[in-house]
Amino acid sequence: RDFLHNVSTTLIKNHDFVAAEELRSKNMLKNHALAMSIADVGWRTFLGMLAYKAELYHRQFLTVNPKNTTQTCHECGFVMGTAGTEKLTL
Ligand SMILES: [Zn+2]
Repeated sequence: RDFLHNVSTTLIKNHDFVAAEELRSKNMLKNHALAMSIADVGWRTFLGMLAYKAELYHRQFLTVNPKNTTQTCHECGFVMGTAGTEKLTL
């Protein structure tokens, strides 16, 4: 919790705009081990901290749907794994 406070305060204080992935969908949780749910509890706490600190410091904070965030081109929006292409690996 102390770590989450430190990171969220640093992020918000040093950036005008912060975006984060929303929590994983319930469907994805079903396919993963309990460790994933525990990780999401921490992520939920972290997102909450970012949200109220953004308000406190007059910064902009938003969450985005995690679907395809590692597969979508930032320029044209093309999604890898579609139209016969292979998905990118991490
Ligand atoms: Zn592109």
